[in-house]
Amino acid sequence: MTAFSRRSFVTAATLAGIAPALPAWAAQAAAPNGVDPIFGDDIIRLDYNESSYGPTTSAVKALELGARQSGRYYYEQQVRLIELFARQNQVPSDHVAVFCGSRSPLQYGLARYAGQRGVVTAAPTYDSVANGAGALGAAVHEVALDAHHAHDVRAMLAADAQAGVMYLCNPNNPTGTLTPRADIEHLVTHKPGGCLAIIDEAYIHFSDAPHCLDLAVRHDDVMVLRTFSKLYGMAGARLGFAIAKPALLKDLQRLNGYNFVSVAAALGGIASLEQADLVAERKATNRRILHDTTERLRKAGYRCTDAQANCFMVALGRPAEPVIQALAQRKVQVGRVFDAWPDWMRVTVGTPLQMQAFLEAFMQVMHG
Ligand code: PLP
Repeated sequence: MTAFSRRSFVTAATLAGIAPALPAWAAQAAAPNGVDPIFGDDIIRLDYNESSYGPTTSAVKALELGARQSGRYYYEQQVRLIELFARQNQVPSDHVAVFCGSRSPLQYGLARYAGQRGVVTAAPTYDSVANGAGALGAAVHEVALDAHHAHDVRAMLAADAQAGVMYLCNPNNPTGTLTPRADIEHLVTHKPGGCLAIIDEAYIHFSDAPHCLDLAVRHDDVMVLRTFSKLYGMAGARLGFAIAKPALLKDLQRLNGYNFVSVAAALGGIASLEQADLVAERKATNRRILHDTTERLRKAGYRCTDAQANCFMVALGRPAEPVIQALAQRKVQVGRVFDAWPDWMRVTVGTPLQMQAFLEAFMQVMHG
């Protein structure tokens, strides 16, 4: 028995005109009945902000080639990846470093700059930061998002005048909301001396917001993070970038033991970056499905965040944890509870079929 009924399959095919408008690659992913073709389970995974579409066809070919070439380290493929990213984004290549996902440089940054000095972060935001800081014994100051669900950078600066790390996620996880570029610049130019500003752009490809790579090139102690885990659909391949001054990157690489990424991940990353239309297509598809899903929730009376990412939050008007559990029992997995907003639930944007299944399960759980 799959998580989809025949009725929901038919309904989803006509989902508010969205499915027919999808490009071929997304329509293919939207067509199966929800059963994972490789691992065989029928769980709707809307909990980790992954891509339901996975790596692109050219990235899969590159990953396969990398698997065959895995007998050697092939460090030079990592260098090729760095140079390609640097060229495409007009940053010097010595300002770019590659890691096994973006959480590695995030943790190394915390390890180097926090500890004796505290960490300032938002509430709610990506909780790896508070967890990592806690593991280092650093004081954590969590500052509420402002009324527009942007980072309140002035309150963040006021929270700890001696902070070692200021973390800002744009678009923010879990809300998907944006912080204006001027506020990010304010944070960078007013942070305490020797404090590392981490600007996490894991979801930037889904939004129209200006990126902040230039700030990492212009300023000391500013690190921008990028990942292949979200729009590029390569979460399991583990690949991310840190962009910062060369001395800072060298220091983080030393902490990383000069470890490097698998040749498969490097080749998959290169193939993804070389596909010129990839970001625009996936961004547009995500936006249509996000809009359709949140409109349906709003029409049903639920407030949603103004998200520009592949996740959003919905206000439940009651504790989210039991709702998340009840959805999981229906084989629909959605995001965890964030302590600052216990009555809100994070949902990852999946395919139209998955969102249809989510909406049906959600309405059953909330309205019986
Ligand atoms: N940063 C943010 C904001 C995230 O949401 C995540 C993953 O969910 C990461 C970083 C880590 O991504 P990865 O280590 O897969 O690159």
